[in-house]
Amino acid sequence: MSEELAEDLPIGSPAAARVLRTLLGEPGQVMTRERLGQVTRLSSAAITRAVRPLIGAGYLAEQAAAPRGRGRPVKQLQLVADRACFVGVKVEATDAVACLVDLAGQSLAEARVGLASTEVGEVLDAVVDAARAVVEEAAPRVPLGTAISLSGDVDAITGRVHFSPFLGWRGVDVADLLTERLGCVPVVENDVRALTLLEQIAGVGRRGDSFVLVTLGTGIGAGISVNGQVVEGTFGVAGEIGHLRVEPTGPQCYCGSQGCVETVAADPAILAAVRRSHPEVESIADVLALAGTEDVATLAALERAGEAVGTAIAAVTNLIGPRWLVLADESLAQHRVGSTALDAAYRRAAYGDAVRCEVVPRDMRTEDWARGAAVVALTSWVERVSGRSLD
Ligand SMILES: [Zn+2]
Repeated sequence: MSEELAEDLPIGSPAAARVLRTLLGEPGQVMTRERLGQVTRLSSAAITRAVRPLIGAGYLAEQAAAPRGRGRPVKQLQLVADRACFVGVKVEATDAVACLVDLAGQSLAEARVGLASTEVGEVLDAVVDAARAVVEEAAPRVPLGTAISLSGDVDAITGRVHFSPFLGWRGVDVADLLTERLGCVPVVENDVRALTLLEQIAGVGRRGDSFVLVTLGTGIGAGISVNGQVVEGTFGVAGEIGHLRVEPTGPQCYCGSQGCVETVAADPAILAAVRRSHPEVESIADVLALAGTEDVATLAALERAGEAVGTAIAAVTNLIGPRWLVLADESLAQHRVGSTALDAAYRRAAYGDAVRCEVVPRDMRTEDWARGAAVVALTSWVERVSGRSLD
């Protein structure tokens, strides 16, 4: 799993990285040189200089496309997706989930290893096992990078997890602890930002439009992408939509505030509310079943949650003005999307044309989160190619 930096370096230049990033976001990863010049704003001479070593190293290929009219056939540049691969591991509450992606960010293999506990050593053992399982699938190719994603305040520069409430970790140097065992320095990233990066290269963000991705489930978070850049936040905190205060006299939150979105709209809060009248309820699936019977208390809990989420996403669209708002949901997608309470609260609180932002539902599997982590490894390799982040 070693990084082949010696191989990376000869192709490195900021222009080469810009070419790679542009092709990553293009359907089919195909473009003419002329179009590439328009999108990257590089001169044709600069495109030639950037592209030649990328073709030489096998990352790009040039192919003749169908001629337009009676003119000469136009040559197109294409990313050679299977030229390189990358590993991502997402740490869940019960599993480490790994994904192997190609140079285009497409999933090639996935693996899942159960966690015996959330103790640091146990979790990192599972991360290494899951990563190894997908690396075996990549053979004989060697992945060019590995990234780990998890929920919490993470410093992606140092690879340190400052605080992860669901793991109960404070100040854990994940990158340092894994470097020897993985044979490379892994990138460590917040899981929602990793998912946002995936949406940026493979979803609504591929054309450079600003968007916000809101994740709904056990916790509630948001990733923000403005003008093609995922917002990181100076202190590792950004997009904490789950802690916007939407009910000033609402329930106490673990963060110290009260009435946060999470206290009424996260899965545990919805479960707790429904259990007051239905103590037998065990899961969100049970909640949905009760909602299907038009149970009044269940519908009230879901409406309250929808209203909290709608108010919060209006606050975000008012501040950022995104083109898209992606609602990524692990369990309640069917109920939330199109929910009257969510929609009404959003429309009530969105200011002016902010409401033109299109809300897009996205069903999310845990493997998608792992793919997001792998895309972090991929994009950080592209940055290293440019020479900007080499140390
Ligand atoms: Zn809070």
